[in-house]
Amino acid sequence: MKTDLFAEEKFKVVVLGCHGGPKENNLSCYLLAPIESNEYIALDAGTLLEGIFIATKNKSFDDIKTNPFSTEDREIEIFRSHVSGYFISHAHLDHVSGLIINSTADSKKTIFGIDSTIDFIRDYLFNWKIWPNFASEGTKPYLNHYQYKRLNIGEKISLERPKVNIEPFLLSHPDGYQSTAFLIESSDSYVVYFGDTAPDSLESQKNIEKIWHKIAPLISQNKLRGIFLECSFSSEVGPSHLHGHLNTTYMMEELNKLARLVNPSSPETALKNVKVIVTHIKNTFHNGVSAQQIIQDELKKLNNLNVQLIFPEQGKKIEL
Ligand SMILES: [Zn+2]
Ligand SMILES: [Zn+2]
Repeated sequence: MKTDLFAEEKFKVVVLGCHGGPKENNLSCYLLAPIESNEYIALDAGTLLEGIFIATKNKSFDDIKTNPFSTEDREIEIFRSHVSGYFISHAHLDHVSGLIINSTADSKKTIFGIDSTIDFIRDYLFNWKIWPNFASEGTKPYLNHYQYKRLNIGEKISLERPKVNIEPFLLSHPDGYQSTAFLIESSDSYVVYFGDTAPDSLESQKNIEKIWHKIAPLISQNKLRGIFLECSFSSEVGPSHLHGHLNTTYMMEELNKLARLVNPSSPETALKNVKVIVTHIKNTFHNGVSAQQIIQDELKKLNNLNVQLIFPEQGKKIEL
């Protein structure tokens, strides 16, 4: 949906996976590129190839020209040549399983993450025990297929393919298990992507608040194009069962804190132009009742801020 405020989209996102499990075929992974580029970065890598096949069927990559004489599937060429690197929020399997399983078909790339994320992937996944070590560190790293690049909190990094700047922020998931949010900038427009996170109100460290302080001025200046925020559960799942995630109530509580920072005198209208992409809904299995539907209905009711809620679908493209 276009608003007058954002007449031109600045980013495109192809959703390769949007849930937090337990189903294994549609796990967190979003390909993001500046609108004019076909060089994507992957934000998490839960489901890669399966998502690329579905996205191709949905015509989400129709602006990519692949080699018509290639003997390989078009999807493999997109995977190998148009996904330039992986930004991993944390090493839980629903954020990395595609990266591990698909590694045998991948090209040389960089895996970006904070120290703990890289250490866990290096020590527990690419270690010749769980999977061959396709990476540049750890046990017998002679395949050297993936280069690890460690991100430091407070330090922006600049990429050439695609041309974006990315700054990592810590999240707690929970009790000090570190997850990450990424603030991505292209030509002075921004998107923020949250990995899994506990609500600040259940944590001693107020990590989400730090991100809100960073992006509140960007919202005031109409530079923020979207917030990818997790909402794993409905409000029926209470604090003792959240295990480091947001439910609908906590998600709206956090967004209300942001609204008060953006406009303390009129918080109820402060985020009306902000798009919130609701990620990481966990599948439930109760007589066909869909968690997705329950969470959508609850968020629509709880949305006192009139933020623009977007519910991503695997294989579909979102322009922001
Ligand atoms: Zn997760
Ligand atoms: Zn997690």
